[in-house]
Order: sequence, then C-alpha cells, then structure tokens
Amino acid sequence: MLASTHTCAREGVSCYIVRVEARVTSGLPQLVIVGLPDTAVREGRERVRSAIRATVDKFPTGRAVVNLSPASRRKGGASFDLSIAISMLAAADIILPGAVAKATFMGELSMDGSLRPVAGALPAALAVAESPHKTLVVPRENAQEAALARGCRVFAVESLAETIELVRSGYDAEPIRADARAVLAHAPANTDGDLSDVRGQCVARRAVEIAAAGAHHLLMSGPPGAGKTMLARRVPTIMPPLEFEQAIETTSIHSIAGLNHNGSLMTARPFRAPHHTTSGAGMVGGGSIPSPGEVSLAHNGVLFLDEFPQFSAHVLNQLREPLEDGELTIARAGTRFRFPAAVMLVAAMNPCPCGYYATGARPCTCLESAVARYRARVGGPLLDRIDLHVAVPKVDFSELTTSAAPESSSVVRDRVIAARALLARTTAEDAGGVAHEARALLSRAVDKLALSARAARRTLRVARTIAALDHRDAVAPPDIAEALQYRGGAN
Ligand SMILES: [Zn+2]
Repeated sequence: MLASTHTCAREGVSCYIVRVEARVTSGLPQLVIVGLPDTAVREGRERVRSAIRATVDKFPTGRAVVNLSPASRRKGGASFDLSIAISMLAAADIILPGAVAKATFMGELSMDGSLRPVAGALPAALAVAESPHKTLVVPRENAQEAALARGCRVFAVESLAETIELVRSGYDAEPIRADARAVLAHAPANTDGDLSDVRGQCVARRAVEIAAAGAHHLLMSGPPGAGKTMLARRVPTIMPPLEFEQAIETTSIHSIAGLNHNGSLMTARPFRAPHHTTSGAGMVGGGSIPSPGEVSLAHNGVLFLDEFPQFSAHVLNQLREPLEDGELTIARAGTRFRFPAAVMLVAAMNPCPCGYYATGARPCTCLESAVARYRARVGGPLLDRIDLHVAVPKVDFSELTTSAAPESSSVVRDRVIAARALLARTTAEDAGGVAHEARALLSRAVDKLALSARAARRTLRVARTIAALDHRDAVAPPDIAEALQYRGGAN
C-alpha cells in the first residue's frame, strides 16, 4: 500500500517542503530510501526501524521503499526520521493515510522511539505557513521556535507514540502559540556592556558612531590592552534595534546552523568573533549542502575579526564579496546557494607583530621588514572596502581617572537612529546634495592620494554619514576632510 506525508529540507538559509512517500510490500525485510538522501538521512533507517519496533506491536515485516521528492535536490540531516516513520505507518495502515497526507513532520528519532530536537524549526514553519496545508508536528524543544512563524499550526510531541496518538485524535490538541512581535517589543535593550564603560578614546568612539550610523566597515589599530575588543563588543549596543523581519531572519539563520539554543526569537543584533584560525568554510559557509558560516551568522550585526592580519589570505579574500554586496553565493553541483551577509565588519590589529610600533607606550622590537610584511598580509582590495581606519592608543591612567563620565550607548544610539533615518530619506529622494567646495576638495584628494574610483565613492558615503549625524542632508567640506582622515593607508 502507498501513503504519503511531508517534511522540510534546508536550502541556503530557508527550507522547502519535501513529499515523503512510502510503499510497504511483502519481501525481504528492508528499508530503502531514494530521492537524493545524504548519508545522515540513510543512517536514519536503523533509527526509524528500531523506533517503530519499540512503539507498535505488529508492524508487517517486509520491504519498505521511501521516496523523497523533489528527487533533484540533495537532502541532508536527521530531521527526516519522523516523517519517514509516519509515512511507513500510514502505508502499513497502522494510522489512516488521509490523516497524515496534509501534515508536515520533523524530528530525529531515538532507537526507543523518543524524539530529539532538530535544527531549522523556524524556517521549516515559515515554509509550512506558505504551503496549502498549515500543520507542522515537531519535537517539543523546537515547538516555541516553530510557533514564531505566523499562519502555521504547530503541535509539540515527545515520541513516535505520542505522534501516532495526535494523528489518531485528528490533531485534537492545543497548538503551541508564540507572539513574535510581542517578544520583540518587550525584549530588553542590548545588555552586553555599554559604551559608557569605555573611558577616553574620543577619536575611536567618534569612528564607531559614524560606522554604526552609516553601516561602514571599521579597522582599529592599536597596542594590546588599548580596549579594541571592548569597543568592538559595544558596537551592537549603539545600532538601532532589530526590525521584525530582521529578527525572524537572524533567528532563522541561527536555527539552520543549529545555534538557536534557547529556541526563542533572537532580539539582539548578533556579534560574532571567529578566531583567526577559522577556515574558509567556517567563515563563509560550506558542506555538501552548505551551512551558513560566520559572516551569515553575523548578518544584521557585527563581524569582529581580532588579530586581523593573522587570518589566512584565502579567508580574507573570501570576505570581499560579502563586504561589498551584503550577501554571498556558494555553488554546489550546479546549484547556487545564496546566503545573506549584511554585516558591519569591525577588524582590529596591532600596529606590528610585537604590538608597540610607533605607539609611544614602549619600544617596538620588530624589524622594519617584519612590520611591513605584517601589514601587507591584509590585501589592498580588502582594505579598500574598510572605510574607517582609526588608531586606538593606550589610554593614560590620568585620563582614566579624571575624564568626565562618557556617554552611554542609549544616547549614542539615538543619534545613530536619527542619522539613519535622514540617510534613508536623502538616498530615497536622491536629495543629499554635495556642496561645490566639498566636491572640489574630494577631487583634489583623489589626485593627491591617488584614490581609486571606489575609494572616492566610499569616502563620499562616509562624508554623507558625518553630515547626517550633524542633521544636515548636504555634504560640506569639513565632512569630506573628516572622512578622508579615516581612509588610512589604503587607497
Ligand atoms: Zn613591534
């Protein structure tokens, strides 16, 4: 007999519906899965058979064939187990085929029939909400996350036995509810430190504010202990709160990667700080069915790369596309997977291998050639995309103790939000003028500093942000001058 149900498979950072058909016939007892399953799906055979044996008394011994369609797309992961078991039980008439034909099941089975949570519950629920039937059955640990998707009826179960009971009852159970908008509205402000923790550093603080207002990339250079990491960690606290769609998107990406551990809506902007030994696949994503990398996990937030020149040239090269376009593509077997990657890069480096070149703090012990080699590790094309280069000196003890209390994150964030609103308006209406003298100053700088066309364009963008922070929509010469000062050594 033939029966079918549905499950979800991931592709990029979203999910699509997979039809799961089963046929149970007499023959040698075996379970065959076709339709481009990967190893993890095929390994589910033993779990599924054992879970069924542990749950129902009289499953017919015989040959079961399960087909996953569309067959053209490669499918991976352990989340298929539950749907495969359910389709087999329907094909064997242990549950009514009609009762599962219009539902979607996800979950990894244990040998004893209990269910384990899976990755990707929210993107799966978003796919089910778009499908003609709106019912999704998931392990209990995934239910709150799945319920964040509107327009999808989510049921929570803990075992195969409980799933059979739910189906037999005609889904007579209370669907799990979550109100994502309310969760976001009541989320506490970002609590990961505050900008008022940073004493002194007025130049770096100014650069961080401009970067947050214009979503510009930032490179901080300074000796160890100057507070670069402390500043970087506070960048998300001065960015505007996530909008609803961004919160859903950010949560989906972490869910697909199996990193949304508490299963609720992510309401804070992500801050990712991968180590400099991170591989290319770890940074931009990889695998035969590609998973998101650090750049996508930082989408809508901050990607912090400490010890910037220590990252491999190969990894840094792969950052050029996402930093320019806000997204990246990974090609696998003729398919191009798109991954969102709209990040603010905050990079930090020492001025030289020992850390003290020209800092005045203590003598540098590096050879000039070693200093040059160290700086050359970060290629020009990448530096070209980093608009703000700023020195972060070590703060004197006197400045730490005598300077006034610095501004808090919320004060700075209000200015950032106002500037972003003004920038959005002037960009949309193409109203942001550039004073004649400002244009003249920029073109003189292009000649004198041999700026590339891209560098000139990006300098003008930073100048627009500086003007917007001052509530002006037209760019004036001092805005250009300040923007040029941040261009650093890279042209
Ligand atoms: Zn040195």
